[in-house]
Amino acid sequence: MVESEKTETVLKGIGGSPGICIGKAYIVDREGVDLIKRYPISLERVPAEINRFKNAVKVAKDGHSAVIESLGTDLSDQLGILETHLALFKDKMLYGKTIETIKTDMINAEWALKKVSHEIKSMFMKFNDEYLKSRVMDIMQVSEQVMRHLVGAQDIKIADINKRVILVAHDLSPADTSQIQLEHIKGFVTDRGGKDSHTGIIAKSLAIPAVMGLDNATQLVENDDILIVDGSSGILIINPEEDTLFSYEERRAAYEAQQASLARDSHLPAVTLDGVRFTLMANMEMVEEVVSVRDNDAKGVGLFRTEFLYLYLKRFPSEDELFEKYKEVVELLTPMPVTFRTLDINGDKVLPYMKTIEEENPALGLRAVRFCLQRPEIFITQIKAVFRAAAFGKAKLLIPMISCVEEIIQVREVIEKAVQELKGENKIFNRDIPLGIMIEVPSAVIIAEDLADYVDFFSIGTNDLIQYSMAIDRRNRQVAHLYHPMCPALIRMVKMVVDAAGKKNIDVAMCGEMAGDPFNLPVLMGLGLTELSMNPMSIPRINQMVRRLNAHDTEEFTKNVLNIGRAVDIVAMVRENYGDILDK
Ligand code: PEP
Ligand code: MG
Repeated sequence: MVESEKTETVLKGIGGSPGICIGKAYIVDREGVDLIKRYPISLERVPAEINRFKNAVKVAKDGHSAVIESLGTDLSDQLGILETHLALFKDKMLYGKTIETIKTDMINAEWALKKVSHEIKSMFMKFNDEYLKSRVMDIMQVSEQVMRHLVGAQDIKIADINKRVILVAHDLSPADTSQIQLEHIKGFVTDRGGKDSHTGIIAKSLAIPAVMGLDNATQLVENDDILIVDGSSGILIINPEEDTLFSYEERRAAYEAQQASLARDSHLPAVTLDGVRFTLMANMEMVEEVVSVRDNDAKGVGLFRTEFLYLYLKRFPSEDELFEKYKEVVELLTPMPVTFRTLDINGDKVLPYMKTIEEENPALGLRAVRFCLQRPEIFITQIKAVFRAAAFGKAKLLIPMISCVEEIIQVREVIEKAVQELKGENKIFNRDIPLGIMIEVPSAVIIAEDLADYVDFFSIGTNDLIQYSMAIDRRNRQVAHLYHPMCPALIRMVKMVVDAAGKKNIDVAMCGEMAGDPFNLPVLMGLGLTELSMNPMSIPRINQMVRRLNAHDTEEFTKNVLNIGRAVDIVAMVRENYGDILDK
C-alpha cells in the first residue's frame, strides 16, 4: 500500500474525458459551507460571536464592493445584480435575524446564519412569484459569501493553482474548466456532471482525463491522497495499492503509445477502403486550441463554440474584441474553414455578468438563438464580427437551437441589419459565407426540409438532440445510463436529416460528441454522413477507422440497423460486425 493507514477505494463514475492520470488530490472545496456544525455558546461568549459575524459580513461586503469598483461602467446588468447584493449584506431579515438568533438560541454564528437562511428560503419559496424566488436566490448567495468568511473557506481560483495536481470538486462549471492551466492540472474528478456535459467537452479538448458524476468523491478524498483517474472507463481509484498503481502505470504508457502511433498516421487522407472521402473537422472553444486543430490534422473547424470568449470576460465583448479574436483564428487556419456558431448561452452556460433569468428549466428556456433574438444588439455585434473576420479567410456562420422556420427567418433579418450597419460604417467585411443551422431539437428534424430552404448547411448536434428527444438532461448523472447515441430513435432522426439535406441539395455534417466515438462510425457512415466534426484529439482515431471501413458495407449494415428497436441490440450488432476493426 502507498500509505499504510489508507485503503484503496474504487469509485465508478462517468468517463468525461479519456486518458489516465496519476497524481495527488487537490480539493476545490466550494461545498465546505454546507458542512458546518452547530455548537452552543455561553452567555459571555454571545457578544464576541456577534462581532465575529459582523466582521465576516464586513469582509464579505468589502470584497464585494471591490469587485463592483473593478467593473467598467457599461456593465449595467452585472452592476445591477452586484449592487442589489451589496444592499442585502445588511438586510434586516438576514443580518438582523442572524444576530438575534445568536443571542436567543446561544449558538455559533455559522449555525445561526444557516438557520436564518433556511427560514428565509422556505418562506419565500412558498410563494409562486418569480420575483420573490429570484430575490431569495440573491439572499442565499449573499449568505453563502458571508458563510465562506465565517468558516474561513478560501475561494480557490482554479487559474491560480500552481502544483501538478488532480482537481477534486463537487462540480466545475464550463467557465471553471476553461481556466485550467494545463501545466498544472493533470486531470479532474467531480461529484456532479453527466454525459456530454460542456465541462466534459472542455476537458476533452484540453486532453486531460476526467471522471464525473462520482456522487461523493469530495467526501471520500482528502488533500494529497494519491489518485488514479481513468477517464476512459470512468473510474477513480483513491489511495491505490502498489499492484494497482503498477498496472495503471502500464496502462497509461500503453494509452500514450497508442495515441502517439495514431498521431503518426493522422496526416493520411480519411478515405474508406472503397474510396469515399471523409472531411474530419474539429470542434473548438478557445483560440489556443488552434494548435490542437492543426496538430491533429483537422480539415477545418466544424464547430467553434463562441460562448467561451464571453464566459472569460467580465462583460459582453465589443465588436472589435470579437473581430480581433475571430480574425486571429481564421488567419491561423486559412485556407481551412472556421464555422462560427453564434452565442449559445443559458442552458448550462450562464454568463456571470448577466442578470440571471429565473428559469425552472433552463435547457428549455431562453437559450442560444432564442436569447440572441431577444437581445438583437448582442447578436448583431457578433454577426458583424464574424463577417469582418470572414474578409481575412474562410468562415461559416452556424446558428444553434433553431426549432422552427420563423426563427431562421428572423435570424436572416438580423443578418441583413448587421450587413446594413457594416456598410454604413464603411468596414471591410464578407457576408458571402455559408449560413447553417444546428439540428439539435427534435422539431427541427421533423421540419428539416422546410428549414433547408433558408440555409446552406445543417450540422447535427447530437448532444442536445439526445437530450431533447429522449428527455435526458445531459448534465444529470441520474439519467446518464439512458443517454446513448446508438439508440434507434436517434439513428432514425439522423437519417431523416441526412435525407432532407440530400433532397434539398444542401450540405450536412455532424458535430455532436457522437461523431468522435469510433464505435458509432459504421452507423454514421452507413447513414451517408461524410463530414464529421469532433474534439481534435479524436480525429486521428476516427481517421484510422475511416481508412479501415468500406462505405458500401456500412450502408448495407445500417439498413438492418434501422429496423432494430432496441439500443442494446444495435450495440451488439456493431460489436459483432465491427468488433475486430474497433479492437485492432
Ligand atoms: C450539440 O448539442 O450536439 C452540440 C454540438 O452543441 P453543444 O454541445 O455546444 O450544445
Ligand atoms: Mg447543442
